Formats: sequence, structure tokens, C-alpha cells
Amino acid sequence: MGLSQIRERIARAEAEAGRAPGSVTLIAVSKVQPLERVEAVLDQGHRVFGENRVQEAAEKWPALKARFEGVDLHLIGPLQSNKVRQAVDLFDAIHSLDRAKLARRLADMAQERGTCPALFIQVNTGEEAQKAGVMPGDADGFVAECRALDLPLRGLMCIPPVEEEPSLHFALLARIAERNGLSGLSMGMSGDFETAIALGATHVRVGSAIFGERAQG
Ligand SMILES: *Cc1c(COP(=O)(O)O)cnc(C)c1O
Repeated sequence: MGLSQIRERIARAEAEAGRAPGSVTLIAVSKVQPLERVEAVLDQGHRVFGENRVQEAAEKWPALKARFEGVDLHLIGPLQSNKVRQAVDLFDAIHSLDRAKLARRLADMAQERGTCPALFIQVNTGEEAQKAGVMPGDADGFVAECRALDLPLRGLMCIPPVEEEPSLHFALLARIAERNGLSGLSMGMSGDFETAIALGATHVRVGSAIFGERAQG
């Protein structure tokens, strides 16, 4: 598919939803992709990337950031509490804030440094046992907890169950964000980003449709 086609499809989806051009940020999900594919997308001028593993990102991105100016790196996968320091060094945004212990670690780190990545709370909209994220019923309370810690909350993130209609999950996430006064919505992947944009996504996370199929992960 490629970057330019995805950009065109995003622009069309924005227009169809009556949303301002450029209101949706495209996060190019580069996990597990060969370096030359990532470099090709950087060469085309794209700067916003997503990775789902701290370790993998730490091996790959410091060198790329030194070569390409203005990289905006988003962590879209789970974050262990013992990797928070490494994560805040590396990432400009974290989409997987999902528990009190992590919130407290991030708040400590923010205090120590005077800065903090933009944060999205992950919501387990499908209430799946194996999936990360706060349950929808606990989301309002967790938002309040994070605010009490002065964390820079940007919005909410979800990964809908594979077998279900994603629009129901996107709409649920949008409702939770709305009633909590949060403007960011990180939702939509290669197969459903246009649906997500119609329902208010501000950040879409697109991997395989830009880079091609992944070998794994
Ligand atoms: C891998 C991944 C994506 C991108 O998936 P594609 O289907 O390749 O677009 C988006 N979000 C998360 C959390 C991911 O782990």
C-alpha cells in the first residue's frame, strides 16, 4: 500500500467525516519491520512512529533519531514498571497507561525531570481477560487518579477484539473520552482506521498497510 496512499485515505476520511484536514495524526507502526523500510518512510518525510516494545525501540531509534530530525516516537505496547525510565527517555507519547502503579512511576519521573511524555490511557473496551487496559467501568476513576497526580493526559486508546465490529468499541472509547473532557483518541489500525476517523480518532496506528506484512509480532 505505502505511505502516500494511506495519507490520501486519511485525508478522504477526514473530509467525509467533516473533520479539519490534518486533524488526524498518522502513527506509522514500525515494529519488527526491516530497517530499510523504516528508513524509506523517514526519507519520504514522515516523522511520527509507533513501537510496541521498549527494548526493540531502544535498539533501533536512538541511531535513527540522530540521523533524522524531528522524530516523534509513540509507545503503543505494554509498559512494565521497571522500564518506565527507559521509556520516558525514548518516547514522546505513551499509549498504554493502564494501572495505578504505572501512573505513580510516571508521576515520580515527571517530577524528577520536569517533563513527561503525552499520555493515553488504554481502555480494554472488549473486557478481554488477556488484554491490557482499564475496564470501561473503571476508566472515569482512573482518569481522576491520573489527574490527581498531575499527569499530562492526552486521551484514550483501545485495541478492539479481533472478532468484533470495531465501530462499537471506537464509539464506546469516544463516549468515555467525551464525558471525561479528553480530546485525544488513539484508535484505528490498518484494517479499520477510516472507521475510527469517522468516529473521532485523533491518532491512528497503522503498520502493515504502510510497511507491508510483518514477519512476526
Ligand atoms: C501492531 C500494532 C498496530 C498496527 O497494526 P497493523 O494492523 O499492522 O496496522 C496498531 N496498534 C497496536 C497497539 C499494535 O500493536
